[in-house]
Amino acid sequence: MAVSADRSFPAASQNPPSSSTVLSEAAAGVALRSVTKKYGSVTAIENMTLDIPAGIYCCLLGPSGCGKTTALRMISGHESVTSGQVLIDGECVNELPAAKRNTAMMFQNYALFPHKTVWQNVEFGLKMQGMPKAERQQRVNEILDLVGLDHTAKRKPHQLSGGQQQRIALARALVTRPKVLMLDEPLSALDENLRVRMRGELRKIQKQFGLTFIQVTHHVEEAFSLSDQIVVMNHGHIDQVATPAELFKAPASKFVARFIGDNNIFAGKVLDATPQADGQDLIKLDVEGIGALYATGNGTQPGTEAACCVRPDLLTLERGDAATDQSPLNTITARITQVELTGFVTRVALLATATGQPLLHTLRTVDAQSLALQEGQTVSLKWSANDCVFLAH
Ligand code: ADP
Ligand code: MG
Repeated sequence: MAVSADRSFPAASQNPPSSSTVLSEAAAGVALRSVTKKYGSVTAIENMTLDIPAGIYCCLLGPSGCGKTTALRMISGHESVTSGQVLIDGECVNELPAAKRNTAMMFQNYALFPHKTVWQNVEFGLKMQGMPKAERQQRVNEILDLVGLDHTAKRKPHQLSGGQQQRIALARALVTRPKVLMLDEPLSALDENLRVRMRGELRKIQKQFGLTFIQVTHHVEEAFSLSDQIVVMNHGHIDQVATPAELFKAPASKFVARFIGDNNIFAGKVLDATPQADGQDLIKLDVEGIGALYATGNGTQPGTEAACCVRPDLLTLERGDAATDQSPLNTITARITQVELTGFVTRVALLATATGQPLLHTLRTVDAQSLALQEGQTVSLKWSANDCVFLAH
């Protein structure tokens, strides 16, 4: 792939066309109200309620088959709802066809016309709208300039690199001046380097124009790097709606904690919950084989099956068996099974001595080296209740 032939979008300092000249429509908010979608006996989306404020970058994140594309297509109008309402700008659009919703969709495979030039590809939607030629010309030139591809106007899609094709698809979606842009896995066909660069550019263009972007992705890091709001989906339901920072700090369920990766999760039974000054509870869980672990969150009845989780970077590791000092609330003994130097960070895989449960600790490589960590060593892991998130389900 001819990565070096790509040009970046013009930097802000290069006088990009202002949003008022290129995109005159204001961004719109989107909402789903108890939306359900059934395909015969398959329920793809069940009773989904969601608010996406105007002008934000929202990612629908979840594993394959959880209903992300279906949710997006119901918003765009490419799929009907079985029940419930889709609102754009506060108006129910259930009965409006896709072309009348003031939205645009950028598809996974870009769906560029292979025999049309770049210019004709971008012009197509405007032509369909019956826009006069002079106006079309102005709009297409403006948007090609904006994505930094005016020099490719006469080429055919196969004469462009993957990144350039992606920008043309973006230009084609933006040229109609949508209030909401929807993107279904737009970066999945790109190699890793280009994907990282293109996501920076998508984010930049979204911010530059203040448009509402709704993107589908199964890629956790991509959702984290792009989003103002992440909607984590699981089997046709929403498990959590949060900012990336909130999601990272406090996953709402075992599924989310697992899906966003590498959290250490302990299943147990609630022993008691004590209200704290900050409104949260200090919850004591009985974890089989390990004993009591303390977590913070919103408590539930004693006896309830629940779990807690701690991020691998929030553990402290000490050589030797667990000491008896009580300062960090949670302490367990574990054996190192692998020490993996990945760069600045070292990943340490362990097994809990009492239960054999796999655990992960990450630390700065410089710290791992000064501890001289090695496979087979027995260590103690400590973490505070404040870093231990209570998971009610
Ligand atoms: P995702 O985009 O998260 O991978 P989809 O929205 O494509 O998931 O699919 C959600 C569920 O709906 C899956 O079980 C899928 O097989 C089913 N599904 C999607 N589209 C159709 C369809 N046109 N007909 C029947 N089942 C479908
Ligand atoms: Mg999909």
